[in-house]
Amino acid sequence: MTFLNDVGRAVSNTMDTVSRKTGELVEVQKIRSQIGTLEKDIEKSYIQLGKMVYGKFQENAEIDEEMRRVCEEISKDCAAIEQYEDEIATVKGMKRCPGCKAALPQDTAYCPKCGTKLEG
Ligand SMILES: [Zn+2]
Repeated sequence: MTFLNDVGRAVSNTMDTVSRKTGELVEVQKIRSQIGTLEKDIEKSYIQLGKMVYGKFQENAEIDEEMRRVCEEISKDCAAIEQYEDEIATVKGMKRCPGCKAALPQDTAYCPKCGTKLEG
């Protein structure tokens, strides 16, 4: 009888421990989710900060040399993207508006999007 009572108590203690651990896990998961939300906010702010610095770079404002180097990398990549967009237009038999960069049929005289006069 005493043995069974002991077994019963042990099982009951184990159940308490399991449900406490489960409660802990749920609580930790909730907190981790809040941390995750904040980390996403921080990432957005970093991006915003970077775009602000890049904006200053484009305005030729004075910026830190290290930041300037990163901005130059971004500019280089942007120029490469523009070249690829030109290639896509060429492959599709189109030309791009120098004003707004829209891809247009070769025989377009004026860009329908921004009104720029086109050559050729
Ligand atoms: Zn245009």
